[in-house]
Amino acid sequence: MPGQRKILVTRSSMPPFEEYCDEIRELWDTHWLTNRGVKHRQLEDAIQEYLGVEHMTLFVNGHSALECVLETMELGRDGRDEVITTPFTFASTTHAIVRKGLRPVFCDIRPGDYTLDPSKIESLVTERTCAIVPVHVYGNVCDVDAIEEVAGRHGLKVVYDAAHAFGVERDGVGVGSFGDASMFSFHATKVFNTIEGGAVAHPDGVLSDRLAQWRNFGITGPEDVVYVGGNSKMNEFAAAMGICNLRHVDNEIAKRKAVAERYWELLGGVPGVKVCVPPSNVRHNYAYMPVVFDPAEFGATRDDVLDALAREGVGARKYFHPLVSDYACYAGRFDSSDTPVAREVAARVLTLPLYAGLALADVDRICGITLKVGA
Ligand SMILES: *Cc1c(COP(=O)(O)O)cnc(C)c1O
Repeated sequence: MPGQRKILVTRSSMPPFEEYCDEIRELWDTHWLTNRGVKHRQLEDAIQEYLGVEHMTLFVNGHSALECVLETMELGRDGRDEVITTPFTFASTTHAIVRKGLRPVFCDIRPGDYTLDPSKIESLVTERTCAIVPVHVYGNVCDVDAIEEVAGRHGLKVVYDAAHAFGVERDGVGVGSFGDASMFSFHATKVFNTIEGGAVAHPDGVLSDRLAQWRNFGITGPEDVVYVGGNSKMNEFAAAMGICNLRHVDNEIAKRKAVAERYWELLGGVPGVKVCVPPSNVRHNYAYMPVVFDPAEFGATRDDVLDALAREGVGARKYFHPLVSDYACYAGRFDSSDTPVAREVAARVLTLPLYAGLALADVDRICGITLKVGA
């Protein structure tokens, strides 16, 4: 219907205005605005407990967190500079690897949940491989056992990009407990946000000091600067936003679940339309609603659906298209035909609107428009 309210692919979660005002009031007494203030420390502890992880270091954003963890692990220093990773992700994952002077080696994904295919990792391992950086894409848990088995056999570090996976658990274990470290993003568009923000979860207490030092110019004491670190500290206003949003996150995830289940009910089982339902041992966070259209069976392409939704004021997104390996900035360096599953999914996937406040009636309308395109 023309003139109808626009629906975007996501909508940031915000606490009640008064709750945030109460949370930041004391900052006007202390005048302590950043550098590990009271809100920062409170949030770090609260998230660590919520995610059930051993150690948690907050950052100004997820990307800096990922760069910093690669840096503190000193990857590449011994001449081993190859990192096996997925091309089916957001720019940040690969950019962090490249910006740290390391070389991404793209491995294909699984057609079922779009995470790294562990059976294809081993043939990519060389004497130069130092790490694996898998992504829990859309909040789907990677096959962590198989990945860590290959890593263990070859002495590789495993750093998960868990930007999509806040609050996700497998068999009651938080995803932040897997591997050598995991990066979380608290960007405005993620399931849990601090406006901009991020963190590294890690089992190693030694890494914890180093991450905190790298985050703050490499300063280790009042007169000691031992690393050439950068500045990636979270400020008190962002931390206060996180403290408030964390109080509501379970409720937000429950609302997302209801929206996701409505999509699965209406789109699941339609020929040529594939939705991604998590296995029963996973507590999912319903971060995104990826739908893969097979044009031969569905009768229309992903782009046809995108256009039809746009005409009705519904903003779906092609997450993740193009593959990172096809970006202009990496032209000539990679060949996406080496990762055929990823290439096909990227050509067919559409991410439909999903957020806590999305009305089920809107989901019905979005699915109605979608199904009409294929009819
Ligand atoms: C959002 C995101 C990041 C980067 O996080 P920021 O907090 O925006 O820096 C990294 N990887 C993936 C897969 C993401 O979606």
